[in-house]
Amino acid sequence: MTRVLRTTAMVTVFVLIALLLPVGAFAKTLEEWMAGYDTGAIWFGEDFHYDITDEEACWELLMKPITVLDVGQREVVSPRTGPGNDYPKVNTDKLGGTINGSSAAVHVLGDDEDGWTKIEGLDYYNRVIRGYVRTNLLKTVTPREDYGIIIDKLTQQLYVFKEGKLWSSCAVSTGLPNDSQPYNETAAGEYLMCSRMGDFDSEGMICAMALRFNGGDAIHQVPYTFLADGTKRFSTWESKLGQRASHGCVRVARIANEDGLNMEWLWENIKVNTKVVVWDDYGRRQPYPEDSLELYYNPNRGSYYHGDAYCKSVKSRYTPLTGFPYSELDTGDYADLKRCTTCAPVLRKAEIDELNRMRGLEPLVDDGVTAPTGEEGAPPSSLDTSLVHKSDEGDVIIVITPAGE
Ligand SMILES: [Zn+2]
Repeated sequence: MTRVLRTTAMVTVFVLIALLLPVGAFAKTLEEWMAGYDTGAIWFGEDFHYDITDEEACWELLMKPITVLDVGQREVVSPRTGPGNDYPKVNTDKLGGTINGSSAAVHVLGDDEDGWTKIEGLDYYNRVIRGYVRTNLLKTVTPREDYGIIIDKLTQQLYVFKEGKLWSSCAVSTGLPNDSQPYNETAAGEYLMCSRMGDFDSEGMICAMALRFNGGDAIHQVPYTFLADGTKRFSTWESKLGQRASHGCVRVARIANEDGLNMEWLWENIKVNTKVVVWDDYGRRQPYPEDSLELYYNPNRGSYYHGDAYCKSVKSRYTPLTGFPYSELDTGDYADLKRCTTCAPVLRKAEIDELNRMRGLEPLVDDGVTAPTGEEGAPPSSLDTSLVHKSDEGDVIIVITPAGE
């Protein structure tokens, strides 16, 4: 009798513990979402050189025709495990397993089989999805020949090529995924600029001059919010330029660089059918800045470090600012300086180490040798789910709304 009671009590306790555990304890991690899939890191091939200074190779890539799936630019295709509608979809994760229509490149992997062809393409998680689509959806498109755009997730820069030459570049923020939103990644690959969306509101953040290139993902100006007096506040997100921060879109500077490049320039000059290439960063190391790199601060109680002696955030009576080398950034009073939210200078070494860890690379120790490696990190894995609505999951195509930010 006692034993029965005690057993009942223990079962009750176990049930209570199980009920108290948060649902999140059973959710997948980013690593688990990516498990078993190749990622955008392999899209351009193993021997690919991510060399932005090789203008000839970059231009060749930017001019090369791509094969896309010829459905509407707001429609997606779910590849199937075999040649026919009777086969299941390769993947049905939330916002996953699909390839965006009309602008996202696919690789053709085989010949026609009864009206179906095996292809590979990238989903919002930056996973390579291999499967079968209807052959009549395959369409080859030649990009425009005036401009081409390369976005490098490693450097968080957008590079504009003009008529075969690298014209200019500026800092961006690409997607920052997490365990609950693995689809926030900006997928690597090849795309065509497909529509001019203009401004949109993402949960109170205004994303101006959006140019759509991959389903819900667009290139747009760094978001702003309105303050109570009606002025625009950019600083929250502007300070993140040069780092991952978005839900998958590519945020671009509003302040023009010396060449005049900013989002407004892109909006006025980049037309539909311009090729947009996104380079993955997984397995690629972000180097530390040179120790001698000059940084700046305001010795008169300034609390930020800057990359520009005449940073626009500082009153002109304090400029030019006082210089110090990058090697001293983590020493003395410099260690307390915050990164300027306007001129977005280089990151501290510890921050670069953390980013490299996300790319599966251990930090470099002092002698320049890689520290012992632990378990390989998961590839960091675009899009705000609240902004995406599926209207029909029945067959191959579902329809999504305009961009998630
Ligand atoms: Zn500054």
